[in-house]
Amino acid sequence: MPRMITGLHCTFCGRQYEYGQLLTVCEEDSRPLYADYDLSPSTLDRAVLKDRENSMWRYREVMPPVPPISLGEGMTPLYHSPMFGERWYIKDESVNPTASFKARGMSAAVSVAKHLGATKLAVPSAGNAGGALAAYAAKAGLEAHVFMPADTPKACIVEAQCHGADVRLIDGLINDCAAEIAKLRDQEGWFDMSTLKEPYRVEGKKTMGYELAEALEWRLPDVIVYPAGGGTGLVGMMKAFDEMERMGWIDGRRPKMVAVQAEGCAPIVTAFDQGQRFAELFPNAHTAASGLRVPKAVGDFIMLDAIRATQGFAITVTDPEMISAAKEIASKTGIFAAPEGGATLAAARKLTSRGFIQPQDLVVLFNTGSGVKYIEALA
Ligand SMILES: *Cc1c(COP(=O)(O)O)cnc(C)c1O
Ligand SMILES: [Zn+2]
Repeated sequence: MPRMITGLHCTFCGRQYEYGQLLTVCEEDSRPLYADYDLSPSTLDRAVLKDRENSMWRYREVMPPVPPISLGEGMTPLYHSPMFGERWYIKDESVNPTASFKARGMSAAVSVAKHLGATKLAVPSAGNAGGALAAYAAKAGLEAHVFMPADTPKACIVEAQCHGADVRLIDGLINDCAAEIAKLRDQEGWFDMSTLKEPYRVEGKKTMGYELAEALEWRLPDVIVYPAGGGTGLVGMMKAFDEMERMGWIDGRRPKMVAVQAEGCAPIVTAFDQGQRFAELFPNAHTAASGLRVPKAVGDFIMLDAIRATQGFAITVTDPEMISAAKEIASKTGIFAAPEGGATLAAARKLTSRGFIQPQDLVVLFNTGSGVKYIEALA
């Protein structure tokens, strides 16, 4: 196993941490930690990738150095979708194990947690994260404790239960579920797998950035339109781009990063509009796109910094807009899109009419999950 990880650092204060122990957030300020790798150009010659396995673990030199707990996640298709825009593409994450890109994060995080000795894993989930943790914990032979809002889409609840997780339904939102876990975890001996409260879910999700670059032959898109809840995928892709630049694979140009949120839960859009670096808790959060029902994100400042640094944008769409766009993707492309995926198409059209997206732009929309999980909203 190559061991290219050199340590970790706090995304806020820069404090350094050693690899090799179970870590959560920064001891000083409770902000997210990021893993660092040896990124000298000899770390990974991108030419070797063509002979590697067809999963996100093909980028193993820039992944945590542990035996992968894998169900075949990653290397999802990037479909040219000219019915929507001349150079528009859809990266279809619905074909991941557990039918969403949460599989990437959980594959990485469960692999490290198991390797470093955790046995009982807990996660708050608005939907897909719970099923993904349950599946990877099952594969790893670890316990999973999943806390979900009681009105989470039924498929997500049943999925986690079938994988043998201890599922608890909470009368509240994902942040209430997180608070419940924080109360119980020490007495129960649980390791908290909340996104960006442990350092490795983002390592799995960043592989979307590597895959995009590889599929586009080491050019990046002009615009990436991403449905942001906790924002882990968006900031993960930025981390991947920075790593690739340091290895000499790409130059310093970045796609404009666009965060799409639901009108009923838009803390990042509100902070973006108000010029704030941190987002306030969004009151009365509601949307059928359960992955976007995140009223407060620990990585808010990382996401807002990335959007601003790339001259990106943050925009809302309504639930009827995203659901109708999800059905349009399904009927015109054969991809059974989640409402979150539909949200990116609805947002990209708004951005086109505003002139933010230009006709010649190479645009990538992320369909982060499958419509199969959202039967209530799509029926
Ligand atoms: C979790 C989730 C999101 C939001 O992902 P983040 O990377 O946490 O912003 C978007 N879409 C779906 C389908 C999800 O499950
Ligand atoms: Zn810190």
